[in-house]
Amino acid sequence: MTVFASTDYRGHEVVSHFQDRASGLRAIVAIHSTVLGPAFGGCRMYPYGDDEAALADALRLSRAMTYKAALAGVPFGGGKAVIIGDPATKSEALLAAMARFIDSFGGRYQTADDVGTTVRDMAFMRRFTPYARGLADAAGEPCPATAYGTYHGIRAVAAHRFGCRDLAGLSVAIQGLGSVGWRLAGYLAAEGARLVVSDIRPETVARAVQAFGATAVAPDRILFQDVDILSPNALGAVFDDRSIPRLRARAIAGAANNQLARPEHGRMLAGRGITYAPDYVVNAGGLIDVAHEGPGYDPQAVLDHCADIAATVTRVLARADAEGAAPADIADRMAEERLAAGPEADKALASPAIAPYDVRALA
Ligand code: NAD
Repeated sequence: MTVFASTDYRGHEVVSHFQDRASGLRAIVAIHSTVLGPAFGGCRMYPYGDDEAALADALRLSRAMTYKAALAGVPFGGGKAVIIGDPATKSEALLAAMARFIDSFGGRYQTADDVGTTVRDMAFMRRFTPYARGLADAAGEPCPATAYGTYHGIRAVAAHRFGCRDLAGLSVAIQGLGSVGWRLAGYLAAEGARLVVSDIRPETVARAVQAFGATAVAPDRILFQDVDILSPNALGAVFDDRSIPRLRARAIAGAANNQLARPEHGRMLAGRGITYAPDYVVNAGGLIDVAHEGPGYDPQAVLDHCADIAATVTRVLARADAEGAAPADIADRMAEERLAAGPEADKALASPAIAPYDVRALA
């Protein structure tokens, strides 16, 4: 396995492999950039088919975090940790070893919960390192920031595409009613949107029909509904050569990571006249929440910062129109411009609600 030759390697600062025989931990940390601040990115645990797949995921996701942070106005760079293994086999010894691995970067890489790990796992890891972040809300769940930011991203798309001041009467198809999708459905229904929903868990769908007056459709049909806005909140790579020609939505905005199978699919969507709000701009709420952690954490300041996602989506879509380019390409360009401008310029743009602090104080 060679890192430098990997197609997903784009000038990463550090790629580090770690093994702890006693607990069975095998993990990779990839630090893509610390230009705008310490590299931040979730700790994923997944039964990768082979080491190459784990490395590819770490390289791809760490770079995506750099771009997400750059456009979210938070003082972070991009990184990612992957644990190779089935989350069902997760033990305290394994989490403790992972925490020690993360601690060895001395704060240059900081992590939080992700696919296969939970806010409870992070709370346990904080016994061994202050650099495992991600606070639970009162119910022990991740904060609603991602859903709230996605809701504001959808409002911005509706304003840009349809000239609507609110979502009343607009139809929105939601793929996935998990912790983000369910809360998002609540925000949209409260504003009068007409919801079409799908999930592979029938009992959740039944609850949404009851709670939000939503129309249920089968998982294999949700992407192809004739709706104003399609909101993917379940899986990545939903837009590809096969799905895009069959889409009937006028616009797309959702929280799922990596919605485009490949970068050219952003251009394919634009070519079909479908307004696409780039996923990492829309779903930055969770990252924004973590950036606000610390003494004086103010949930309202987090939600206000998440509402700013609407302004960023609007800027991306307006510039895409002006330059005749796909919004996904424009978002990447805007992030790269911000990185090139460097941390001093970035400080001027970052939210004043984020006071710099030493996360070791949280331990
Ligand atoms: P989750 O696991 O709580 O929810 C996902 C839901 O999608 C589940 O209810 C699952 O049953 C459903 N699902 C799976 N396959 C499906 C299919 N084929 N059709 C319809 N539904 C299906 O995850 P989440 O935390 O709600 O995150 C949703 C997406 O948003 C993920 O892609 C995640 O990476 C991304 N995201 C989440 C956050 C966050 O703060 N939770 C932040 C950024 C991005």
